[in-house]
Amino acid sequence: MKESSGNWHISLAHGSGGKLTHDLIKNHFSTEFKNPILSALADSAVLNLNGTRLAFTTDSHVIKPLFYPGGDIGKLAVYGTVNDLAVVGAKPLYISCAYVVEEGFDGESLDRITRSLAEAARTAGVIVVTGDTKVVEHGKGDGIFINTSGIGICNYTLPQDIEIGDKILINGTIGDHEIAIISARGELGLNLKLESDCAPLADLISHVLTTSGKIKFMRDPTRGGLATTLNEIVEERDFGVIIDEGTIPVREEVKGVCSLLGFDPLYLANEGKVVIIVGREDASKVLDVMRVHPLGMGSQIIGEIIESPEGRVCLKTEIGGTRIVDMPVGTQLPRIC
Ligand code: MG
Repeated sequence: MKESSGNWHISLAHGSGGKLTHDLIKNHFSTEFKNPILSALADSAVLNLNGTRLAFTTDSHVIKPLFYPGGDIGKLAVYGTVNDLAVVGAKPLYISCAYVVEEGFDGESLDRITRSLAEAARTAGVIVVTGDTKVVEHGKGDGIFINTSGIGICNYTLPQDIEIGDKILINGTIGDHEIAIISARGELGLNLKLESDCAPLADLISHVLTTSGKIKFMRDPTRGGLATTLNEIVEERDFGVIIDEGTIPVREEVKGVCSLLGFDPLYLANEGKVVIIVGREDASKVLDVMRVHPLGMGSQIIGEIIESPEGRVCLKTEIGGTRIVDMPVGTQLPRIC
């Protein structure tokens, strides 16, 4: 429901990707922008232009710190956007790059970010074709924010109808990105060797799509993590999901930090992971193909689509119980992407 008082304010949790972000979009943005393309709430809009299916997406990057093990804001700004194109079955082609820089930001860091962004674009096979630069007064920004938009051509039609018994796959360990960011902030005195999983997924995804015609749905579990992505899949649908804790890949370092801080790995952000729903009959074939790809060596089948409870995500725990995994309300950590 829309806040009735007219007197409401944005909190950091509105940017978490969890329930408050969803409520904000649903109650304040979708109501004003209402159209069938936006209503799909997919990672990219898919536009039919004279018979060509064009994927179009945009993403702003506000990560803190700007440089972290395994990446930096420039690399993230490319991969975050190309992955949103890839998961709707598109081949990423062109991106834009808009900087909002704070007065006084050091030129060497700006050059380093730009070089990294350019290298990431080459790696991902996209070209930066347009951009913008704005500067705000000292103290009115936080170094640099980067917005990228991307377009690509869809060669595959997604999603197909999700059915009971379909399998859920992921291409490796969850939580690496968010824990690497926490560690890089240095506030907790953690001294981890962990790197962010920040990576472009289009090549892995194209192998998956040519292996099986039964790929029903894909999404990159970024902010809000695996739990949020799975909740988005089942939201207002007549099926649920069950995942098996014992099969979900989590690094020991990530588990350790989670138990220390009271975090749940299921809610941690990833920047190089994709959740794939595939027809049961093709699941092991797809898994085999994923596991020979450099970005899929840790792939696992982690669960399946179930009849009930409808609209809910259930977790079979390692100690033999079952619990509901809700959409997160707030945020474990702001500004992780
Ligand atoms: Mg996404």
